[in-house]
Amino acid sequence: MSAAKYVYLFGGGRADGNEKMKNLLGGKGANLAEMAGHPDLRLPVPAGFTITTEVCTHFFQNKGKHPAGLDQQVATGLAHIEKIMSHKFGDPVNPLLVSVRSGARKSMPGMMETVLNVGLNEKTAEAIIKATGNPRFVYDAYRRLIQMYSDVVMEKAEGIEPAEGMGVRQQLERELEKMKRAKGAKQDTDLSADDLKSLIRIYKAKVREVLGKDFPEDPKEQLWGGIRAVFQSWNGKRAISYRRIEGIPDEWGTAVTVQSMVFGNMGNDSGTGVAFTRNPATGENLFYGEWLPNAQGEDVVAGIRTPYPINEAGKSEHTAGLPSLEKQFSKIYADLHAIELRLERHYHDMLDLEFTIEKGKLWMLQCRVGKRNGPAAVRMAIEMVKEKLTSAEEAVTRITPAQLDELLHPIIDPAKESAATVLAKGLPAGPGGAVGQVVLTANDAVEWTRQGKKVILVREETNPEDVEGMRAAEGILTARGGMTSHAALVARGWGKCCIVGAGEVKVEMDKRQVTMKGTVLREGDWLSLNGTKGNVYSGALPLIKAAGENPNFVAFMTMCDKVKKLGVRTNADNPQDAKRAREFGAEGIGLFRFEHMFYGEGSDKPLFLLRRMIVSKTEAERRRALEELFPFMKEDVKKTMEVMDGLPVTFRFLDPPLHEFVPNRADERQKLAADLGISTEEFNTRADNLHESNPMMGHRGVRLGISYPEMTEVQTQAILEAAAELIQAGKNAKPEIMIPVTSVMTEIVDQKKLIERVYDKVIAKFGMPKSKLPLIVGTMIEIPRACVTADKFASVCEFFSFGTNDLTQMGFGFSRDDIGSFVPKYIEKKILPADPFQTLDQEGIGELIRMGITKGRSVKPTLKIGICGEHGGDPESVKFCHKVGMNYVSCSPYRVPLAKLAAAQEAVADSAQKKPAAKAAPAARKAAAKKAPAKKAPAKKAPARKAPARKAAKKTAAKKPAARKAKAKGKRR
Ligand code: PEP
Ligand code: MG
Repeated sequence: MSAAKYVYLFGGGRADGNEKMKNLLGGKGANLAEMAGHPDLRLPVPAGFTITTEVCTHFFQNKGKHPAGLDQQVATGLAHIEKIMSHKFGDPVNPLLVSVRSGARKSMPGMMETVLNVGLNEKTAEAIIKATGNPRFVYDAYRRLIQMYSDVVMEKAEGIEPAEGMGVRQQLERELEKMKRAKGAKQDTDLSADDLKSLIRIYKAKVREVLGKDFPEDPKEQLWGGIRAVFQSWNGKRAISYRRIEGIPDEWGTAVTVQSMVFGNMGNDSGTGVAFTRNPATGENLFYGEWLPNAQGEDVVAGIRTPYPINEAGKSEHTAGLPSLEKQFSKIYADLHAIELRLERHYHDMLDLEFTIEKGKLWMLQCRVGKRNGPAAVRMAIEMVKEKLTSAEEAVTRITPAQLDELLHPIIDPAKESAATVLAKGLPAGPGGAVGQVVLTANDAVEWTRQGKKVILVREETNPEDVEGMRAAEGILTARGGMTSHAALVARGWGKCCIVGAGEVKVEMDKRQVTMKGTVLREGDWLSLNGTKGNVYSGALPLIKAAGENPNFVAFMTMCDKVKKLGVRTNADNPQDAKRAREFGAEGIGLFRFEHMFYGEGSDKPLFLLRRMIVSKTEAERRRALEELFPFMKEDVKKTMEVMDGLPVTFRFLDPPLHEFVPNRADERQKLAADLGISTEEFNTRADNLHESNPMMGHRGVRLGISYPEMTEVQTQAILEAAAELIQAGKNAKPEIMIPVTSVMTEIVDQKKLIERVYDKVIAKFGMPKSKLPLIVGTMIEIPRACVTADKFASVCEFFSFGTNDLTQMGFGFSRDDIGSFVPKYIEKKILPADPFQTLDQEGIGELIRMGITKGRSVKPTLKIGICGEHGGDPESVKFCHKVGMNYVSCSPYRVPLAKLAAAQEAVADSAQKKPAAKAAPAARKAAAKKAPAKKAPAKKAPARKAPARKAAKKTAAKKPAARKAKAKGKRR
């Protein structure tokens, strides 16, 4: 590796790397290179160099050794910084100070380490005091270095694991607090130079006492200690946890960026901040951010001081009285605003920026694509397409299924919330509602959640070490910190409800309790959060589902519709579910399961009649029961078709193993026996005869229609009469009939004869031509034999719908009711990559599907093909359905939006593959690069920004879909 390039320089208007080199330089290093060196940007970036991720990989593969040649390249890097910044590292007269920062390919906010002010020691400190005449600032920087270095390099990188609250950082922080108390200082900035000088002595002694070693005075030792510690932090506990959650591979490694320090804490003409080119919590196109005068970056993100708003438009009721950068430093604000506009146009996306003002000069320290929550991501996608900043195709690829899912997630029931008393208020860092029991440590959050409890993690301040607890909790509440604090960033990335900087919250760890405005909440007490408003309530307020009434959601779905090729229908068996699915954009019903009308509310009477039909012995008995059942069936079918208003509805004939419906309770059996006019003994004998050893492969699906043609006839009649009545009343109806569990083509031929006969009768009864009441008949393909003989099936069918629940069951030979006992082990042992009942097994079951499609279309090229198994709502499986050329997927109502998104994303991936040139620069993107309209400046005239109200969510509590209800009852579906 000796000839390899390990170090990439940037600064002074040039850079070795660029934004595309994230794998090698990490996101931070690549973007610094872009900002510093790209001819369209050349922004004021402090000079520096980035050590590649390959060095990190080498470091871990070679027991912490660096590759040969790295020393020399780092020395060259230092010389580059020294030349541009006109300071010398370790020089006793004109010293240079540097920061050492981590930077993975994908942002891992706060999960790895940073060391600032490297190069400070007793001598260089004095030199900088001479040069700046500002001893207070120098001593402050020095004490910060000792605090960070001892924590990151001397404790964490050495693998020392102190007890909770006993880490060297916390112990030094307590010394700082002690000093502040002794001096009557409210803020760190109230301490004098002399106070800080004595604090340095106290710190050094404390470091020796806690760690048994001295803080190193040699700048080179500090630099290499910092570099090693940053590499080491790739394998720190919280970085590993975060990688597991985010699915980031361990092999990637982190880059290390060494960069000249610039100081935001040099006095009142200095400051630092974090900003977003748009609001990451709401998506509003408004330059948004936080800053602090006379401070270093960590002060803003660590949540130690509550930061100020960057501009007037970004003020909220919590920050109304604080000074904005726009007012305080208007010229610098204008420069920064111009830079953020240039950057957003350059990257075509919302960016997260870090900047520092050193003695009136603005420096850009970082830029990256900003994390955002689901509602914000969707809003930005829509608005950026409108602004021609990006294309619809690119915009749909930026939304993850989880982000879209957030828009469908719960909020506190507004009716109950308006009557509740607000216990505390904080910054609305992550929207939506959360209800849970109070826990005060991340470990408890994880442990309690494991026990099946729902928890709210309440912490004094944000701390990235809490990442696992934050993940486990329903919501997060912190007493300190701003909108850009680590907790806020992480929670936002996960779409988690989060409130930060709630000043009234007092966490008393020793008493294991929290107080808010005099109310004491102990661990385990219930708490409710409204992360959209930043309100905290005691007790458990009810949550309701958010819904598709949000205009941004609707617009985004329309965008997906334009891009996708695959149709998206829903599995629904009643008017309520059908209505909900339509609100989410379903384009029809792909599976109406007749048997689901016998579950749930209002089903007593039809269930009784169905049972009577099942235990009937003669056709006459069965017909009598079916006749009585008929009006119930027709009504359900009619109401559902009415809701769908002309969109196709696929009715699937009854498909339950009959014995599932036979009651076990003696009183119910007696009642049925009496109704049938038979003895209880006779009833019991008939019920016993229905017993099957393997009901999944027993008397179900089409087999019932073959044994009892009257069942097929009555269902067909219900469907067609309902449709005819709707049509006669001037409404729209488009029924489709689907025959389930077919394994030979002749089953369909048999059933179609019955269907045709009824069709003719209904046509005659209503006196309407067939063209006015069109009907198509198809089958489910859910048995491997059907796939293998699909050409024969196609000759008698107008459509196929793959029932991948059964196809997976029959293809694997795994009983879908019994997988719980062995599939988890298969996944744990990596024998299977995922549960094949959730994510389609493309290799095996997928191959059966391909065969079915190819054979079917070889006979009928225009054969309509869909899927209605659970896989129809799983994003990866939906993408597969696009690839194999299906016409539509069908899934439960709440998964319709996710299926649409996956279908749109796959359509984009597909066309990019077919047209590689188009991928490089979509037309809209090119146009935007040339003349993207300048965003409206939020300056002076911008209207006072209020937190935009989330569009009233749909209020109906989610009804458990029938399929899941059945499962809950231990039924087959
Ligand atoms: C299937 O088997 O995939 C299907 C949708 O039918 P059911 O779940 O009702 O058996
Ligand atoms: Mg099935």
